[in-house]
Amino acid sequence: MCAAQKSAFVVGGGVIGLASAFRLAQRGAAVTLFDPNPGKGATWAAAGMIAPVAEIGPGEHENYQLQAGALAAWRDVAADLRQLTGETLTIVQHGTLLVGWDGSDRRLVEQFAQVAGEFGAEPRRVRRETSPDMFDGVTGRIDEGLLVEGDAWIDPDQAVALLASANELLGVTVVYQSVLNVCDDEAHVKATTESDTFGADLGIIATGANALPVGAGTSGQHIVRPVHGITVRVHGIDRSAQPMIRSFVRGSTVYMVSRPGGYNVLGASSEERGETGAQVGEMQRLLRDALDVVPALETATVVETRAGNRPASENLQPFFEVLHGGRWAWSSGHFRHGVTLAPLAALEAVRFMERV
Ligand SMILES: Cc1cc2nc3c(=O)[nH]c(=O)nc-3n(C[C@H](O)[C@H](O)[C@H](O)COP(=O)(O)OP(=O)(O)OC[C@H]3O[C@@H](n4cnc5c(N)ncnc54)[C@H](O)[C@@H]3O)c2cc1C
Repeated sequence: MCAAQKSAFVVGGGVIGLASAFRLAQRGAAVTLFDPNPGKGATWAAAGMIAPVAEIGPGEHENYQLQAGALAAWRDVAADLRQLTGETLTIVQHGTLLVGWDGSDRRLVEQFAQVAGEFGAEPRRVRRETSPDMFDGVTGRIDEGLLVEGDAWIDPDQAVALLASANELLGVTVVYQSVLNVCDDEAHVKATTESDTFGADLGIIATGANALPVGAGTSGQHIVRPVHGITVRVHGIDRSAQPMIRSFVRGSTVYMVSRPGGYNVLGASSEERGETGAQVGEMQRLLRDALDVVPALETATVVETRAGNRPASENLQPFFEVLHGGRWAWSSGHFRHGVTLAPLAALEAVRFMERV
């Protein structure tokens, strides 16, 4: 059977599920996507950074290498979305300015430079004196930093909206219900919602940090836990022509992604729990850190706070696991990088479909 004749389920309509449905439908599959509330999971809270270098962590070499191809993959998706929908997904590549708040934080910046160098990345040293615009709004106590030039951002809301429109144009059926149960036999997969049972040739489960539908969990090798985080969106200074800011503050990190028109995403808390609300304390710490680094935010207006649960695997690496039976696959573990990695996860889904 050729790929063009296959039918596929995608369970979960976050950025991973939407991008997977898009690529599967583009390859000719008849796709049904299930989600009671598409785009409102972790994807809703994400800042949208595609920042493989600035996000480097010791021991995450494999993940860094994977992410290094993500921006090009997003550009491919953007070109295809434009062709289909006529709309342009905005990708802004002004890099990241990495700074440290106090002496200890500046030592963390130095350690970062060393780790980045070991990964083959070469952030450039910049000074306020020679690049004053880059430090616009940043506290006067910070006069130097590292510029990570390749980093970019997209607006996840726009990505979700464009993927959903493209999916509609490609004939993807959306069932606005949770899948409660999945099963398979030698030739088919089945998905059961509260009102119906559906059948297809194969299925992708992309439920993020949420529990798997009954019938899938028992065969998975991986464990995914939720790591809660919030972003606070404020309207104020416009640094959209400048790099994103990322700062170590008292050992933690805070970042600011500035979109045109003065809309800024401040992020992000990171806590080992799974909740959808924002706690006052975590919001206070995030705003305190952001204000310390960018005092120009003092008069910004809070627009909203968004919370989500990052899907973290046991080794913090993303995975695409073919489940027992071979017709269901589980695409998760994208943790802090699911927006970045979505086009690559979608290509995994296509490879899986070609094998089934
Ligand atoms: C505060 C914060 C900031 C972040 N910033 C960034 C960033 O700047 N860059 C980046 O790359 N990543 C970022 N991330 C990480 C990124 O958001 C996640 O890795 C990514 O959104 C995971 O996508 P997903 O589609 O797997 O999960 P989700 O977006 O959570 O989507 C899962 C979907 O599955 C649906 N679902 C669940 N169970 C079922 C079921 N049984 N049946 C049907 N549907 C179901 C849910 O309704 C949901 O819509 C951030 C995350 C957080 C929390």
